Parts: sequence; structure tokens; C-alpha cells
Amino acid sequence: MNHEDQLELATQNIQAATDDRVASICKRLPKGESATHCVDCGLSIAQARRDALPGVQHCISCQEIEDQHGTHR
Ligand SMILES: [Zn+2]
Repeated sequence: MNHEDQLELATQNIQAATDDRVASICKRLPKGESATHCVDCGLSIAQARRDALPGVQHCISCQEIEDQHGTHR
């Protein structure tokens, strides 16, 4: 493998990692319609919660678990 190929490969890896990060950040940003049911456990999400958090995708229980795990970085 020559030098240019290695450079190309490294660039692709960086690109892929960046795309992953952007995708996971985007997933966490509330936007659009709120889910009627939790995407994790399938429980229905209270209308009040959906109104308070536009684009909410998780029920209170799953949101708490996620917050405790500190995945919102
Ligand atoms: Zn849930």
C-alpha cells in the first residue's frame, strides 16, 4: 500500500467517525413530531409530556435511564 492509499483510508475513517457523531447528536435533538409511544419500551407517552417536550421520543422512565447514563454529550 502506498502513501496516498493510506492517507485516503485515514481520511475515510475520520469521515465515518464524524458522520456517526453527527447522527447520534441529531437523534438526541428534539424536533418535529413527538412520539406517541416510547421508542425504547413502547409505552405510551403522556400528552402533557409531548406538549412540554416537542419531538420527545422516550417515556419518562427511559429518559431518566438515559440521563443517568450521561449519554447526552
Ligand atoms: Zn420507555
